[in-house]
Amino acid sequence: MTRHVLVLGGTTEARELAAVLAARPGVRVTSSLAGRVSRPGALEGDVRIGGFGGAAGLADWLRAQRADAVVDATHPFATGITANAASATAATGLPLVVLRRPGWQAAAGDRWHEVASLTAAAELLPTLGRRILLTTGRLGLAAFAHLDGQHFVVRSVERPTPPMPPDVELILARGPFTVADELALLREHRIDVLVTKDSGGTATAAKLTAARQLTLPVVLIRRPPLPPDVTPVPDVLSALNRLGLNSP
Ligand code: NAP
Repeated sequence: MTRHVLVLGGTTEARELAAVLAARPGVRVTSSLAGRVSRPGALEGDVRIGGFGGAAGLADWLRAQRADAVVDATHPFATGITANAASATAATGLPLVVLRRPGWQAAAGDRWHEVASLTAAAELLPTLGRRILLTTGRLGLAAFAHLDGQHFVVRSVERPTPPMPPDVELILARGPFTVADELALLREHRIDVLVTKDSGGTATAAKLTAARQLTLPVVLIRRPPLPPDVTPVPDVLSALNRLGLNSP
């Protein structure tokens, strides 16, 4: 009997998991993307794009598609879909595996200021510097829109839309980035503060190493909490184990 696994995606780990599951005999995988990125990379298995219509819509989809399990492999800051996945799996009685790459940990020499939100980051910035590298994604710029004394270098995959700060220089780029890339960027733009979410993983961690080497302060936005009773797994192998699909 075929097992149908829904992978809520938008991350590298979701893509890797989909590829492993698609290659498993007796497994059907459907990856779901929000549709925020205009040209998402190719994915193994079936793909659906766009919101489900809240937790109830997701539960309807799971029933209609005869899903057997859900893996929430979304970004650590995608709190809406994670809450919906918890509600919809509770409503349908399906197992939920939450795959979250571990957060970043400070190393010797780091000058991190850890905050709980974009708003808290914006409050702190005027005390830390004037030339800021902002890598928090194109959707959160409104939190910084009132800061008119700072020069922002905003790096994002897709072009951001207003509201945003008045003095913005935009760099459209997609990781992975090397430490050499990041050192060059920080020096070229004479950055004195880096702002980032605690996304974790290796693809975008080089900026933290570069900031350490240049002794720059970093404002690190900590992850929002997971829904109650959710114990995440840190990688694709652990997700397969949790699904009971660790051997081909
Ligand atoms: P969010 O705030 O958690 O979700 C808002 C709504 O978007 C959800 O309620 C859902 O709509 C829809 N949605 C989100 N992810 C979906 C998915 N994988 N499949 C189908 N619908 C989805 O999400 P977000 O922070 O905007 O992130 C959107 C996507 O971008 C996520 O898939 C995430 O993995 C990826 N991403 C996010 C970030 C970030 O910093 N937040 C960074 C990198 C990648 P309905 O209620 O209508 O179902």
